[in-house]
Amino acid sequence: MFEDLEAKLANALKKIKGQALITEQDALEVLKNIKFALLEADVNYKVVKEIEQELKEKLVGKQIEKNLTPFQTIVDTVHKELTQVLGAESSTFVINSKPFIVMLVGIQGSGKTTTCAKLARLLKSKGRQALLVACDIYRPAAVKQLQTLGKQLDIPVFSKENTKPQDIALESLEYAKSNGRDIVIIDTAGRLQIDEQLMQELVVMKNTVQPNEILLVVDSMIGQEAVNIAKKFNDDIGISGLIFTKMDADARGGALLSIKRIVGKPIKFIGVGEKISDLEQFYPDRIASRILGMGDILTLIEQAKNQTDEQEQKQLQKKLKKNQFTLDDFLGQLKKIQKMGSIASIIKMIPGLNKVKLTNTDDFEVELKKITAIIQSMTKKEKENYKIIDANRKRRIAKGSGTDVQSVNKLLKQFEEMNKMMKGLDKNKALHIMKNLGR
Ligand code: GDP
Repeated sequence: MFEDLEAKLANALKKIKGQALITEQDALEVLKNIKFALLEADVNYKVVKEIEQELKEKLVGKQIEKNLTPFQTIVDTVHKELTQVLGAESSTFVINSKPFIVMLVGIQGSGKTTTCAKLARLLKSKGRQALLVACDIYRPAAVKQLQTLGKQLDIPVFSKENTKPQDIALESLEYAKSNGRDIVIIDTAGRLQIDEQLMQELVVMKNTVQPNEILLVVDSMIGQEAVNIAKKFNDDIGISGLIFTKMDADARGGALLSIKRIVGKPIKFIGVGEKISDLEQFYPDRIASRILGMGDILTLIEQAKNQTDEQEQKQLQKKLKKNQFTLDDFLGQLKKIQKMGSIASIIKMIPGLNKVKLTNTDDFEVELKKITAIIQSMTKKEKENYKIIDANRKRRIAKGSGTDVQSVNKLLKQFEEMNKMMKGLDKNKALHIMKNLGR
């Protein structure tokens, strides 16, 4: 993945001199090389111009961060920029209805049918009961293919002969309801190229079943064409996100970097191989690291930053001792956890949180959004002293955050328990946990 781009970016970043400030000349030199690397990787020209401009603003005259070398500061800045361009936050979907309906669309050969099965498998591994629905009736092999994959995965496949695709889909919803399947994944028809009849059929399908998600499956190997296809599907049907397939074979990564800015829709998953387990949730920051191919250097940067964090952690520790640890501090710490790849081990350390059964990153994100909304609905005084939050205030906060009093109570309890635990620990252990929260 990204071998070409990675090599060129490494080359572009190599020539940084060691000084306290990044000079305009240095920045322009780096930017020129980054620009060429991106263009050669087939990133959309408009996006390249945006990246160049944004990086210029961020880099010229930038003070070298404490504990970092000039080279590391630039790598860090470029990494953040690429993360932004890729969509900043990871987004999949919040399953909030039953059955939850996901419709996969895309042109023939993009990997749509395979991806339906991969997605069903991924959801199954998270405890969901998927139903696969074969609506690609023009390609009889696709129905067979889905049935074979379904059998392998022990996931039912709904299909019907001599029936219109939208009617098959409608009937499948009834089947799902009466058979306890909570997610319906619809494989739709594709064509070798985009044509108007296909678009119309997909619009009919969309209006008939009203899916919660319409995901466009695109083959990353077709480069810029993927962006054009995505634009067309989004204009005509309205998609909620994308799945890029064959990322294992695409060494350039250009389309991936263009899509969010040009189409405005997030990439939600990536296909990374032919095996049924080769589907990953899309994490912009991790992909940005892979594009830069500087895992080791980025780790070093993180470590150096953590050293700076130590000061902040000591202050937090002081606040805890003095009973001044506020709900805002609590939220700050949780947000740091979110930035980490693997959260399971640290979540275990926080009393209260592990009881919410945060088994995976998605659940954690949903929970964190809720917690953020609740804390942001509090007044400054309430955040500083949660003890004044009485029943009336709880009702107001619940209303303001679109949650309920029970959730507000739960959060306050978590906060109280964390507070208690941190105070009960000896200084070194508490500091250790706080440091880990920031990793
Ligand atoms: P559809 O016509 O869009 O339904 O495409 P298929 O699901 O039949 O896939 C077309 C081909 O792409 C098949 O040979 C798949 O095995 C292959 N394919 C799908 N996703 C990936 C992927 O992520 N990596 C690789 N290497 N091959 C993939």
